Amino acid sequence: MADEQDLREGQGAHSGKPGREDQIRQYVVGPIQTNCYAYVSQGQCMVVDPGFAGDQIAQALADVDVRLIVCTHGHGDHVGGVSELKAATGAEFVMSAADVGIAQDMDGSGNHPGETKPPLPDRTVGEGDVLEVGTARFRVIETPGHTAGGIVLIGEGSAKGVAFVGDTLFAGSFGRTDLPTGSPVQMAHSLKRLAHEIDPSSMVLCGHGANTMMKRELEENPGLQS
Ligand SMILES: [Zn+2]
Repeated sequence: MADEQDLREGQGAHSGKPGREDQIRQYVVGPIQTNCYAYVSQGQCMVVDPGFAGDQIAQALADVDVRLIVCTHGHGDHVGGVSELKAATGAEFVMSAADVGIAQDMDGSGNHPGETKPPLPDRTVGEGDVLEVGTARFRVIETPGHTAGGIVLIGEGSAKGVAFVGDTLFAGSFGRTDLPTGSPVQMAHSLKRLAHEIDPSSMVLCGHGANTMMKRELEENPGLQS
């Protein structure tokens, strides 16, 4: 697992009272460098996409109350660490209903050695649902295309200006559509939606590779040009 970094501190995005402002921690995990994120608000934590190394992520988050584990989609490199992390923290596991089948099929594509089959979700979410930790809220948008059940989380409340986009949008590109339940047509529609739903001033946190800003993607990303 790569060293932990505090993205928000690094970007100086918030200047609230010391020790009380929200924090985003990033862990790069597994054989294909999945970005796992921890969003911490008021000591409560939501983990996004623990694809691998669930035990190590749990240890790194021992100082906060991990309430939610959310997966942006069902591929093994995003759900592979859920089992260990959930066992260690007791957090609620959340994903979309449409990707549960992919997540449970550990022989399916997108799985790699060392990933563990996830439990069934404690709760499934879809369009318009809201997830909360501390003073942060995240609105769920359904973004099929990479998989049928892909979701994006758009920050509100103290998380305003942050979006977790999974493998739908990447810095300068977008997710592949050739895996089971993927669809180029749905991907094009989902990207069009994101162009409207994510504020240009937002920090965009991707499932793999570099993070980016929405303003830059609106200007440069070929998938967002209409
Ligand atoms: Zn994926």
